[in-house]
Amino acid sequence: MVKAYKCICCNKRAKPKDRRPLTDTVKNYLRRVFPAVDPTDSDVICFQCRVKSYKNAPKPRQCSDNISNDPDYQPQPSTSRQPFSPLSVSSP
Ligand SMILES: [Zn+2]
Repeated sequence: MVKAYKCICCNKRAKPKDRRPLTDTVKNYLRRVFPAVDPTDSDVICFQCRVKSYKNAPKPRQCSDNISNDPDYQPQPSTSRQPFSPLSVSSP
């Protein structure tokens, strides 16, 4: 008997070529959107839901796109690279 692989997200039958194993990103998304669902490694997700989960999944902070939105990020002020300016040394 062939096991019917149902998408854990939309509950539709996932075709073999649309079937994807659950990655951590997908699992995190599912736990957030469907708290009642307990994703396991034997579950599968269809291609559409996988794309959706990746779009909506919380991204790790290491992404460089987040730097401009990070309030803690401060670009190095250019003045700190030169502790003293040559002009102030030559003046009496
Ligand atoms: Zn699906």
